[in-house]
Amino acid sequence: MSVTILDGKQLAKTIKSEITKEVAQMKTIGKRAPHLAAVLIGDDPASQVYVRNKVRSCEQVGFKSTLIRHDASISEAHLLNIVKDLNNNPDIDGFIVQLPLPKHIDEQKITLAIDYKKDVDGFHPMNFGRMAQGLPSYLPATPYGILQMLERYNIPTAGKHCVVVGRSNIVGTPISILLSRKAKVGNCTVTLAHSQTQNLAEEVKRADIIIAAIGIADFIKADMVKEGAVVIDVGINRVEEPSVKEGYILKGDVDFERVATKCSFITPVPGGVGPMTVISLLMNTLKAANKEIYKD
Ligand code: NAD
Repeated sequence: MSVTILDGKQLAKTIKSEITKEVAQMKTIGKRAPHLAAVLIGDDPASQVYVRNKVRSCEQVGFKSTLIRHDASISEAHLLNIVKDLNNNPDIDGFIVQLPLPKHIDEQKITLAIDYKKDVDGFHPMNFGRMAQGLPSYLPATPYGILQMLERYNIPTAGKHCVVVGRSNIVGTPISILLSRKAKVGNCTVTLAHSQTQNLAEEVKRADIIIAAIGIADFIKADMVKEGAVVIDVGINRVEEPSVKEGYILKGDVDFERVATKCSFITPVPGGVGPMTVISLLMNTLKAANKEIYKD
């Protein structure tokens, strides 16, 4: 079976150039550039890489970006004040608070404090609830990126059986809702599997589309995958590798080498879902600047 690698890096480039054109157009008619702010607390290495990518991507498409950094000792009250200032700043269209936050800060409280009209991560219950009801909302970035990828590669979803493994609020649960919805990319019959699922391998084997969002390197093995399945690997796992300069390599949740010989489409890690996640954040920010979801 011939396999198509879903090239998130290339697709992200294409969408970036579309956004760049739109931003240039906005500027020619006298509108200001969309403005995204990112709040980064502490020095978690993965979070630093993610935020750096997001800020760099903003610059590449002509957005304005602001990075607000604090060390991990910041109090919850101080962070809530930063969120309040961003909510009230008319120059900022959307902002994100990079997770995870230090243990002494209640992530839920911070998420709820973000004005849902500026919640371009789509984590606020208002956006999540609207998404679940099929109303316009900021979609969480990773699921939105997966939808874009399925759409742009013309992968049929209607009537397909999709098995999502992992039920996080930012990936597994929202993508399971989105793919089951009556929509252009949707109309799947969805199974949401997780750590308590029995006979997981059998469940996954029934899937026409597999979405792996678990956080365990090489978790999905070739014998769990149906011939011809579409495999979307969300996982980003650092695996020790002394022979490389960094001392680690990135691996997905799917045993790529072996699974790729059986499936019809597969995302690589890195270069698959990751770049699409960043693009989705830019798309949400553009929507915020154009007041596409919330009019005032
Ligand atoms: P999480 O870490 O919050 O949760 C993991 C999920 O996997 C849980 O719902 C759990 O039920 C399930 N799980 C754990 N062990 C299992 C098992 N043995 N069998 C079945 N299910 C099991 O999930 P997350 O935040 O969605 O992250 C998942 C992975 O995706 C991580 O590697 C993360 O780094 C990566 N991620 C990547 C992107 C991206 O842009 N590519 C974005 C977000 C997360």
